[in-house]
Amino acid sequence: MKDLDRILSELEPQMLDTLRCWLRIPSVCSPAEPGAPFGPVLRSMLDQALADCAALGFSTSNFDGYIGHAEFGEGPDEDALAILAHLDIVPVGDGWTVEPFEALVKDGKVYARGASDNKGPAVAALYAMAAVKQAGIPLKRKVRLILGCDEESGWKDIEHYQSVTTMPRSGFSPDAAYPVINIEKGGYFLTLKAMPAGEGLRVLRFNTGQRRNVVPGAAEALVVGDEALADRARSLAKKHGWPLTATVEDGTVRLQTVGITGHAAFPHLGRNAIGQMLILLRDLGAQAAWCQLANAIGMEYDGQGLGISAEDSASGPLTCNLGIIRYDGDGIEATLDIRYPLLITPTHLPALARQKLPGFEVIGQAGKPPHFVPEDSELVQGLLDAYHEVTGLERKTIAIGGGTYARVLREGVAFGALFPDEEDIAHQADEYVSLDSLHKSMRIFARAIVKLAGKEA
Ligand SMILES: [Zn+2]
Repeated sequence: MKDLDRILSELEPQMLDTLRCWLRIPSVCSPAEPGAPFGPVLRSMLDQALADCAALGFSTSNFDGYIGHAEFGEGPDEDALAILAHLDIVPVGDGWTVEPFEALVKDGKVYARGASDNKGPAVAALYAMAAVKQAGIPLKRKVRLILGCDEESGWKDIEHYQSVTTMPRSGFSPDAAYPVINIEKGGYFLTLKAMPAGEGLRVLRFNTGQRRNVVPGAAEALVVGDEALADRARSLAKKHGWPLTATVEDGTVRLQTVGITGHAAFPHLGRNAIGQMLILLRDLGAQAAWCQLANAIGMEYDGQGLGISAEDSASGPLTCNLGIIRYDGDGIEATLDIRYPLLITPTHLPALARQKLPGFEVIGQAGKPPHFVPEDSELVQGLLDAYHEVTGLERKTIAIGGGTYARVLREGVAFGALFPDEEDIAHQADEYVSLDSLHKSMRIFARAIVKLAGKEA
């Protein structure tokens, strides 16, 4: 490994140059053009990345602008060690204090949209491959870096790849955190509908949430009422400790409450503003269907009130996020994003939930199976060894509620590139990647490649 470590050190400045070049391309998905299914900027991003891979001596393929790969070594495609990363980024958003596409280097960090998600890890993997190649380490299988362009949106890149070429069976995606994520919970998405009926406070409008996988951080409802109702609402909210504004306008009251935005895969980090509003409406005496939602879901994210809570020791608890509510005076539509543990069969989830929501019918449902790679597999053990040897940190596997590219490989895990002591700044303002972490990742990936794809001496 001595040679390998020396080569890795020598490659560090070049790695930074490549990363900064990639980060200066604002590769957000935009409308399709001929040869550019995710827009011309992503097309030039992919061309640039593959040109850099080719310059390092890898053979490259561009699959119609959807996705590309760079590889070295010999053997069947199916058996290649795959490393899956992505070149597309989420929009810049507000709150930046640095230029998001300048790739400023300051205090050992590189700042840019996409620095940590996912261009930094992609470049680290590329230079890990380059170091193994330059060290002349003989391989028993191909090593293939797959660079997608649609991870943040619809995974159409992966779909295209699978339809035109062979997806390897095994590998990892450095698009999450260390150590190894070997369990991704299953997903179950339910939309329920009911007509509000019977006695009670009338809600006129309640539309909150854009995406089911987001814990809504603010909610607004319009109800029939006067100053007295507004006062009651304010004191109820105060009792719960939730912010609320109640504005009276000709016989109606506009209620606005604020929670904490989060991701449906980690609902405990957020505070669901729809749930807050439902509880306020119930306590103000709203019609039955609203009370059912408040009682069965409310502020819970473990499915307890819905009768679907579950847990296994490997994957942890089921989570449930009420991400969207739609009501304009017709029916109430509520959309749930449920992440369930490995041991659950989700077939009866909708029927179980409906027992607690008797006025509701299921008008939409979709599922995504859980993904699992056993801890004792050669892949997981090889990655944990590489991680531990470079960092000295604890070898362990973790389960998450989210879905990464890893699940498109029959035996795929997420591996890096965020270290346990680092904050997750993906999708946030002033996104950055630490150079020290990238250098460590290069070493970890290079060792992993040698362990998993190198010929035994
Ligand atoms: Zn990502």
